[in-house]
Amino acid sequence: PLDLSGRVVVVAGGGSAGPGWSIGRAACVTYARLGASVCVVDRDAASAQQTTALIEAEGGTAATLVGDVADAADVQRLFAEARERFGGAIDVLHHNVGIGKTGGPLETSTEDFDRIHSVNVNSLLLACQQVLPGMVERGRGSIIAISSIAGMRYLGYPHLAYGVTKAAVTHFTRMVAQQYAGQGVRANTVVPGLIDTPRIATTVAKMFSDTSLDEARAARARQVPMGRMGTAWDVAHACAFLASDAAAYVTGTELVVDGGITGK
Ligand code: NAD
Repeated sequence: PLDLSGRVVVVAGGGSAGPGWSIGRAACVTYARLGASVCVVDRDAASAQQTTALIEAEGGTAATLVGDVADAADVQRLFAEARERFGGAIDVLHHNVGIGKTGGPLETSTEDFDRIHSVNVNSLLLACQQVLPGMVERGRGSIIAISSIAGMRYLGYPHLAYGVTKAAVTHFTRMVAQQYAGQGVRANTVVPGLIDTPRIATTVAKMFSDTSLDEARAARARQVPMGRMGTAWDVAHACAFLASDAAAYVTGTELVVDGGITGK
């Protein structure tokens, strides 16, 4: 069985775009159930607090840390708080934040492109700069970055900035994995497919405004060989594996959780 007892996990983006189970929230709860102390970081205080409350209601250990993970000063403060809160060591970094905007090259301004890159990629650089020195010193650490199958292929509608930055997240993680493989630090990407999180209630509804949310969900499910959208738990369980010593020999890989879409 997977075990994270005594480990400290920081989840950057542990809130949720709406009520229910986002990937980050399900991951936070899963880590806590496996015994970890979880720092729930999010710029949305209320939704981060909700994740922490869910963990504490089950008897788990969590702390809410509020700030913008794309802002260098905030990141420094957030990780200092995380270290202070749980004894100094950060064993697992789960980089979860991801934003996007539909559109191809003619619909994407350089301002949008920069903003999306800053939240999706610069934040990963800033977080790695915070955790890597301690992980190297202790000779142990796991970095998990959430990418997307949109970073692997075109998914039927233009989502350029999102796809490009998700490809960057995957390659960033691969390169960190290679550089630090000899020092006990593992880095892997989890690549979700079409996952039914609260976010789709807002984004999919906007993208496919001519269909109801249920129709949009059904259309997405038809794209999946397994015949259903994924749940946040499908992704969280993959993350738990990579966070734990069960994945001790796994680094630099992409764990695709997509019900078979990209294997077609
Ligand atoms: P979500 O939007 O519900 O959760 C992301 C959280 O990150 C939110 O609570 C948000 O407030 C927070 N956040 C965003 N920018 C931030 C910032 N700058 N600083 C601090 N917090 C910030 O998302 P989700 O649907 O659970 O997806 C989680 C991850 O999985 C994202 O990286 C997303 O791109 C990826 N993903 C999702 C799907 C899907 O179908 N839902 C598919 C593939 C990949």
